[in-house]
Amino acid sequence: MSNHFNVEQKLGIKLPTPLQSFSPDWPGAERVSIHIKRDDLIHSVVSGNKWRKLSGVFSDPATLPNAILSFGGGFSNHLHALGYCCHQLNIPFTALVRGDYSANPTPMLRDLINWGTRIRYVNRIEYSRRHDHDYLNQLRLAHPDTTLIPEGGSQQAALTGVQSVITETEHNFDVVICPVASGATLAGLITALEPQQRAMGIAVLKGVGYLESLVEQFLPARTDNWHIAHDFHHGGYAKTSAPLLTLIQSVSEQHQLPLEPVYSGKVLFALKSMLASHVFAQGSRILVLHTGGLQGARSTKVE
Ligand SMILES: *Cc1c(COP(=O)(O)O)cnc(C)c1O
Repeated sequence: MSNHFNVEQKLGIKLPTPLQSFSPDWPGAERVSIHIKRDDLIHSVVSGNKWRKLSGVFSDPATLPNAILSFGGGFSNHLHALGYCCHQLNIPFTALVRGDYSANPTPMLRDLINWGTRIRYVNRIEYSRRHDHDYLNQLRLAHPDTTLIPEGGSQQAALTGVQSVITETEHNFDVVICPVASGATLAGLITALEPQQRAMGIAVLKGVGYLESLVEQFLPARTDNWHIAHDFHHGGYAKTSAPLLTLIQSVSEQHQLPLEPVYSGKVLFALKSMLASHVFAQGSRILVLHTGGLQGARSTKVE
């Protein structure tokens, strides 16, 4: 009994997250109501949807992994969240990072180093094998008694944690909007909807057809209560544009809503554009999921 503890409490995870009413002076916004689910406030270090996807891994103190290995890029919110949780819970953590940042680690990687993560920089060819059956078996042999977690924390077991975004929200809504990269967050939301509700994903990278297939692989059945909007990636993953940066700045200032350009900024940009073109029926109740990710927006300059 004595070494049982509440993991969320130990990590400082704050749930449920607040719902913020959002009434911008944008053309078309007066026709609908908008609320923002502030999952960016789950934790100051652990990024919102990364906690949702990982929560099952850490839910039961009796079955915590003995060691964890996972994958990501040099700015990965997922590796950052895992690195912090493993450090707090004394779980050895190995990160396979795409590209060699050893001479110039990003702020994210410097956090991992401070948290005692074992980092292995791998080239693009090795990294591209991260879903291969044979490669994963080799890793399992080299790292016995270690739980392997896919890139982004996106695995079937992640959906349950994402569903709690909806189940903890008492407010009623017609459509929920979130960013899409690996698709597990959107899939989790879709599986929590009532039949009359819809989900809309905003693609943050170029991937017509591909992103839909990623989402579908997580869904138990084909449904037509969701779709992905592909016009708002601003050139690709982590690419930005001047209008995007302007919108992020004005929303941050006028609405006490911190945004970053990779995920949440693109979602709000898409929302503004779709409101102007009356994509949503009059009176629609829109729920926007702020997935967090603010750590990834830190500058790479060495302080
Ligand atoms: C990883 C991430 C996403 C993408 O979620 P997927 O489940 O991979 O589609 C969205 N927002 C933030 C802040 C993220 O870190």
